[in-house]
Amino acid sequence: MGSEYHHGLHIFLFPFMAHGHVIPTIDMAKLFASRGVKSTIITTPLNVPFISKAIAKSKTPYTDDDIHIQTIKLPLVEAGLPEGCENMDSFTSAHADLVPNFFRATRLLQEQFEEQLLQHYPDCVVADHFFPWVTDSASKFGIPTLVFHGISFFSLCAEKCMELYQPHKNVSSDSEPFVIPEETDITRFFKEVRESEEKCYGVLVNSVYELEKDYADYYRNVLGRKAWHIGPLSLCNKDAEEKTFRGKDATIDGNECLKWLDTKKPNSVVYVCFGSIANFSDSQLKDIATGLEASGHEFIWVVRKSKEDGDEWLPEGFEKRMEGKGVIIRGWAPQVLILEHQAIGAFVTHCGWNSTLEAVAAGVPMITWPIAAEQFYNEKLVSEVLGIGVGVGAKKWSHFVGGEIEWEAVEKAVRKIMEGEEAEEMRNKAKVLSKLVKGAVEEGGSSYTDLDALIQDLSSLRR
Ligand code: UDP
Repeated sequence: MGSEYHHGLHIFLFPFMAHGHVIPTIDMAKLFASRGVKSTIITTPLNVPFISKAIAKSKTPYTDDDIHIQTIKLPLVEAGLPEGCENMDSFTSAHADLVPNFFRATRLLQEQFEEQLLQHYPDCVVADHFFPWVTDSASKFGIPTLVFHGISFFSLCAEKCMELYQPHKNVSSDSEPFVIPEETDITRFFKEVRESEEKCYGVLVNSVYELEKDYADYYRNVLGRKAWHIGPLSLCNKDAEEKTFRGKDATIDGNECLKWLDTKKPNSVVYVCFGSIANFSDSQLKDIATGLEASGHEFIWVVRKSKEDGDEWLPEGFEKRMEGKGVIIRGWAPQVLILEHQAIGAFVTHCGWNSTLEAVAAGVPMITWPIAAEQFYNEKLVSEVLGIGVGVGAKKWSHFVGGEIEWEAVEKAVRKIMEGEEAEEMRNKAKVLSKLVKGAVEEGGSSYTDLDALIQDLSSLRR
């Protein structure tokens, strides 16, 4: 495809091997390609098929000169991992103890990665924050690194302030709320942060300036980080096919799904999905089912189970009773396609940042059920800052397994987000935010312009 800039920039993209990291990276590669920047995505062989499929299904016919995939081999045996374990989605809760080995395996990629740098000499590396060693590797060759955390400005600020001020050390119990402080003596703060600042050239953020303006300003001006906001990345997917083939193959036909949704009233269906990693116990799944049924609302529910796993996790006769009212997708859903359908009225989410931003882009209010990582921060952003979410009442941070929510709480949250004046208000707010973030990626919008600024910056570094 034609280059708008003809600057000949070439960027390495190196995502952690988990869908929540690889999917936005593919979107980023497409975005760069749309501005004439070549990307090479570095990954392991078993992750190639779904990356190349996502690229092949793009509305724009990208060539290998636009987006190239380069494989490196994950040293599974050395890290004590079974064969085929090349993506975090290989780990069910039964294998959660092997996750540290997975991280160890990625640490062993350094030599191969450096060989690639030497061979291709890209102008810049966009490194996943789970690969902190990449900055050192790239700097050996004089190549700048941009870190991609894949999280919001809000969470980036919260994480940094937690590290600086450790407010959690002053509480008397695990459930006592506390305020994350900020420093008032800006100068001292600035110095402190500068001293601890990492060596990377800057940070790429999948977000929109207007969505979290205060935090974007704080991150840049107070925490002193160089950052570019270029999201929502998911909006680079233009047609139904492109939206369907993001990540794994969906276990439901995209068209079938849309046909079913077409028969439903606007804002009447609840979409339930907890991302690509989270697991639930069978009893928690039963509570989700019971809560959905009791709410009386129609739903699409994505469960990380296959047919072979049996149906023990479902209340008896559930699927029969829910015929026509609810769809269970066992495996992988075409999430963006579903969220954007006008029949979707709410999204029960674990608040992974990709899912959260996809819901914002689609104008869908959320029931927040955070489980791990920075998801509890995202819940705060969605419910308390943006005002488009209702918490289900999740309190306990856990690596992998969400739980401890009774069906009554599920029912209550669904009713609260779907019925009444408050629900209407949240829906309206969500629609306004959707317009705002969509405008950001249009020509002249804030994300569009910041990507321009980044490309210019990298081009001048090159010169
Ligand atoms: N996703 C999807 N279908 C599914 C589950 C997840 O398309 O059935 C996509 C979702 O749209 C998002 C990503 O996978 O882009 C999940 O990322 P997120 O940050 O929300 O959560 P994580 O999986 O990292 O916990």
